[in-house]
Amino acid sequence: MSLLVLMYHRAGGGRFGNAPGMLDAHFGHIAAHHVNVLPGEPLEPTALNVCLSFDDATFDFHAVVLPLLKKHGLSALLAVPPGVVHEHVTPQPSARLAIESEHAFANPDLGGFCTWPELTEIAASGRVAFAAHGFTHRRLDDPTADLDHEMKASKDQLAARLGQPIESFVFPFGRSSSRALEIANKNYRHAFRIGSASNRSWTARALYRVDADRMATPTALFAPARLAAYRVRYIWNRLRRR
Ligand SMILES: [Zn+2]
Repeated sequence: MSLLVLMYHRAGGGRFGNAPGMLDAHFGHIAAHHVNVLPGEPLEPTALNVCLSFDDATFDFHAVVLPLLKKHGLSALLAVPPGVVHEHVTPQPSARLAIESEHAFANPDLGGFCTWPELTEIAASGRVAFAAHGFTHRRLDDPTADLDHEMKASKDQLAARLGQPIESFVFPFGRSSSRALEIANKNYRHAFRIGSASNRSWTARALYRVDADRMATPTALFAPARLAAYRVRYIWNRLRRR
């Protein structure tokens, strides 16, 4: 049984992500050859189960990714830090797509992130499950982080605004402390980290995700040697308790 959780960020063609054409071909390959799953869904024992996860809810998810999910009949997990989500933003779509993520986080009113109405529209598509991604997107291995606010208030606000239970938590920057991991396991069914490894089921204290930004080709991540390396990394991580 193999479960590969892929981690993506931008989809607008900038430096930190994939160009729309690359994602289009990549999604086409997944739809044709693998089993697409959302957190908690039954896994196909003989297939490669692939969960798509997009971080940060930048505007390109609404503008680029959602139409591609619909085109290919796929579903994805969207990790949202609700502290950067606005009710309304004034900049034009082209300007919103062009904002670099670091700049967007520093100035959320520039419209780099989906608005609440856009997230509501994404939820209504039925193709997207939401994860809390902290409240303010700060590192949670920082001892000064307010874990209640970052990990519980974020869940409550997303559930209230989007009208669906929030059962996944994605650690910002992939970083956690043992305390943060404990809170995630107590309040969510699934927690996600980074690890360049595959998984064997949904039951793990923190599921590994593989970086899928800046793909060289639409199918590079699924090359047999790469998949074997993710499985080896899973075993290695388990052995050293990482
Ligand atoms: Zn993030």
